[in-house]
Amino acid sequence: MNPFELMSVSEKTTARRALGPVDPGQARIKRPQFLAGGTNVLDLMKAGVTQPSRLVSIAHLGLDGIAWSESEGLRLGATAHNADTAYHPLVSQHAPLLASAILAGASPQIRNAATNGGNLLQRTRCMYFYDVALPCNKRAPGSGCSAIGGVTRQHAILGASPACIATHPSDMCVALAALDALVEVEGDSGTQLIPFTRFHRLPGENPEHDTELPADALITAILIPPNRYAGNSVYLKIRDRASYAFALVSVAVGLDLSEDGTVRSARIALGGVAHKPWRIEEAEALLADQRPRGAILDRVAERILAGAVGQGGNDFKIELARRLIARAITVAAQGTVTNDTACKDQREERQHG
Ligand SMILES: Cc1cc2nc3c(=O)[nH]c(=O)nc-3n(C[C@H](O)[C@H](O)[C@H](O)COP(=O)(O)OP(=O)(O)OC[C@H]3O[C@@H](n4cnc5c(N)ncnc54)[C@H](O)[C@@H]3O)c2cc1C
Ligand code: SF4
Repeated sequence: MNPFELMSVSEKTTARRALGPVDPGQARIKRPQFLAGGTNVLDLMKAGVTQPSRLVSIAHLGLDGIAWSESEGLRLGATAHNADTAYHPLVSQHAPLLASAILAGASPQIRNAATNGGNLLQRTRCMYFYDVALPCNKRAPGSGCSAIGGVTRQHAILGASPACIATHPSDMCVALAALDALVEVEGDSGTQLIPFTRFHRLPGENPEHDTELPADALITAILIPPNRYAGNSVYLKIRDRASYAFALVSVAVGLDLSEDGTVRSARIALGGVAHKPWRIEEAEALLADQRPRGAILDRVAERILAGAVGQGGNDFKIELARRLIARAITVAAQGTVTNDTACKDQREERQHG
């Protein structure tokens, strides 16, 4: 039993102050944390992976709006729920790729509780990270990595390090990376916008740090600039089960096509393959002025997967990713595919209260 304090606040500065200054003498796992939907932080507490001395509920900060403006694009509040975001008409209109990615994740109940900010900061699903009896550099820096040489079906093929081969589990984040989103963050030094592709980090020698978010900072919103990908986008996810399963490999694609069917610009991001959503702009540029079919698709996949290395149990991911990239580009070129028809009843239920 680890006693902790639960606080609820209604003002952003109070919320940040309630975390208190970072005490270098305090173990990382004991540090106070924000509580949003609680779907990850409470699981981690139950498993003993974290033992925060205080949880600061941010549910009542009024950060749950979703809005659109010509200059800023989509503004998604940090505490808006994943389900409300996915079913919002502005998101369907301007970023159907994001709606698809969110609806490919978790289950209806979890998406109802989970928030946008929390989704970005959910921790890896590496089974050794959750098993406090085993070494894990991410949970206990310097203790070793139990996954290397262990069961690696879910692990990284790109950007891993000898210290950690974990993957980032989010579906939503893959679409946000493809859509050049920005994370709005409020900290002691004021408000800043962090480009999404720089928000999450590779493990390197310090896998205990998942992101570049300063320790005292609160995510207030996620911004998606106006884009031209709403008409040709798709999120494809391969997983072991239809529900409650994280991506083995997923691909988010957005294409901006000319009238003659050639590509003006493309966005491609992968999930399930690295410590962060994986995007290679050089590979996207290969599609410019090309028809998205035939040999060019293999060249794009080859560039995205350059340097990919399997760990034994996940070697299959390299070929799976190669095929899924080609498939996703081909499908997106036919028009946007959403996966929300399966969830039609839930959407109507939400809209009619
Ligand atoms: C069974 C199960 C299956 C799942 N399957 C999938 C899946 O297939 N795909 C997928 O993408 N996800 C999946 N998830 C993960 C789920 O999407 C996340 O747990 C959820 O998005 C986290 O959001 P939350 O609001 O509950 O975060 P919380 O658990 O409340 O918080 C998570 C972390 O974020 C911090 N935090 C939250 N909000 C802020 C903020 N505004 N500013 C600063 N810090 C903040 C908290 O302090 C905490 O450290 C699954 C979860 C479960 C339990
Ligand atoms: S892969 Fe990363 S999270 Fe998993 S055991 Fe190794 S260090 Fe820990």
